[in-house]
Amino acid sequence: MITIMTVSELTKAVKDAKNKNLTIGLVPTMGYLHEGHASLIRQSAVDNGLTVVSCFVNPTQFAPGEDFESYPRDFTRDRKVAEKAGATVLFAPDVSEMYPENYNTFVLACGVSEVLEGLARPTHFRGVTTVLAKLFNLSRADRAYFGQKDAQQVSVVEQMVRDLNFNTAIIRMPIVREDSGLAKSSRNQYLSDTELQEATVLKKSLDLAHDLIRSGEIAAGKIKAAMTEFITQTAENARIDRIDIVDNTTLADVETITSTVLIPVAVYIGKTRLIDNIVVPV
Ligand code: AMP
Repeated sequence: MITIMTVSELTKAVKDAKNKNLTIGLVPTMGYLHEGHASLIRQSAVDNGLTVVSCFVNPTQFAPGEDFESYPRDFTRDRKVAEKAGATVLFAPDVSEMYPENYNTFVLACGVSEVLEGLARPTHFRGVTTVLAKLFNLSRADRAYFGQKDAQQVSVVEQMVRDLNFNTAIIRMPIVREDSGLAKSSRNQYLSDTELQEATVLKKSLDLAHDLIRSGEIAAGKIKAAMTEFITQTAENARIDRIDIVDNTTLADVETITSTVLIPVAVYIGKTRLIDNIVVPV
């Protein structure tokens, strides 16, 4: 695996790979890699001749007051995890390399980025699509790998790829979890032992919703109320930010469940905002 910090070196590595007729897989990350990231990298290494893992805490997707400055970083460890999982190129640019002085272009996938997380974090997806458009162009990726953990993000990226004719297939990978059910996340690092235990309410509340739908409940309002009650009664330090039940394809709000739904949750455990979701086929 080679580590690359500049756009020009990445352009050269990609050109060499294309000359050798290798397919290119891209795994965009913000670093502090864990098993969730590794699962994406492994899949890319199986599917492609060259796997580019980007490791970039992207400032444009953080709002003022969010955790851009304090976002966990451990580049030495990231290198080891990426290499072990099968990455061939680790691209870790500085902010000034991605956003040089006078940078002034942004990409916005309207609609799909304005619901759910987009309501809670109105500038977030604009930053995500902007950096991904740059990474797709730089890596000339045949395939890019994303986790279902950020389900709406994948839908936003799919919209951008369709609308702007990117020649990159989007591969959606399953959520990797701790044994406790907690979805792996770089932000789990912020949690104390008690909070780690309390954070399991996210997945447990999703399982509750799943069981209610399986047993015939179709009123989204009743399911959300049951999840809310469960979370507030089980975890003292939990504060619900959002619980939604939406159509899995359109992400439109659902009141009566008649087809497959996505149930995304965002819950503060202490000061840390965690997200998780489940898809319930109907
Ligand atoms: P991040 O570094 O948090 O921006 O995540 C980079 C990529 O890894 C995104 O596509 C995430 O959805 C994916 N990812 C993060 N956590 C997990 C997880 N627990 N399981 C599967 N994919 C994940």
